[in-house]
Amino acid sequence: MTMARAQAIVAEMRHGVAFTGAGVSTESGIPDFRGPGGVWSKYDPEEFAFPRFVANAESRRKYWRWGLEFYPQLVAAAPNPGHLALAELERRGKLQCVVTQNIDGLHQRAGSQDVIELHGNATTVGCLSCAKCWPREEIHARLVAGDDDPHCACGGLLKPRTISFGQAMPARELARAFELARGCDVMLVLGSSLVVYPAADLVPEAVEAGVKVILINLQATPYDEMVSVVLRGKVGEVLPRLLAEAA
Ligand code: NAD
Repeated sequence: MTMARAQAIVAEMRHGVAFTGAGVSTESGIPDFRGPGGVWSKYDPEEFAFPRFVANAESRRKYWRWGLEFYPQLVAAAPNPGHLALAELERRGKLQCVVTQNIDGLHQRAGSQDVIELHGNATTVGCLSCAKCWPREEIHARLVAGDDDPHCACGGLLKPRTISFGQAMPARELARAFELARGCDVMLVLGSSLVVYPAADLVPEAVEAGVKVILINLQATPYDEMVSVVLRGKVGEVLPRLLAEAA
């Protein structure tokens, strides 16, 4: 019944938007933060907040230790059927854009052309003082070689170009994401716990603008009651089925 309702909505979709979270990439082998076995079951999120990273060398070492685990997972990952289904929807002209909280670049690698990254991208590292950038690979090699708190030649701190808690969001990307949330006809909300703000506000923003919202997630979210349809399951399985049958 819920699947049939979701299929009817997708069949009518003309200028949809997808809003994705870490759950879209777990089937590619990249752990999420809050799902079972997620990163926060092993690390303290407070430790990774931006003010701590800047102030405390020990916090930076812990952050980079996690990076030593995370980056090889990112390099080894390939887009899964969820990422590929979104790229196909864009090619068919039904989806305008993917707005993602993910930092892994898998939507682009799957072929999605218009991707808004709200939380940056983990494949580049920047200096917090002089803004020089490096491919992550180079800094990863320094970590592997034993440099556990890498600095720039200018003395500045290095950090992946992702947005941590306490760090400013990219204003242009955020403004465009909210505009799309209000202006699309259907929003597909995929693999997000919807507890990270302001990104999660995109969902009530869309609902209040009259947009039909289909949510696919393994676990409950704070917005399940508000959206048009909730499909419980894996994005990489449920989304291709939804789209195939609604074509
Ligand atoms: P989250 O970890 O808070 O929530 C992920 C949600 O996805 C959970 O509710 C989980 O039950 C669900 N889920 C996991 N696998 C799923 C699957 N196969 N199908 C459907 N649902 C699935 O992640 P979030 O909401 O994106 O927010 C946290 C932050 O995590 C984001 O800011 C993002 O930058 C960061 N993050 C990104 C990556 C990545 O880029 N792949 C990985 C870890 C964390």
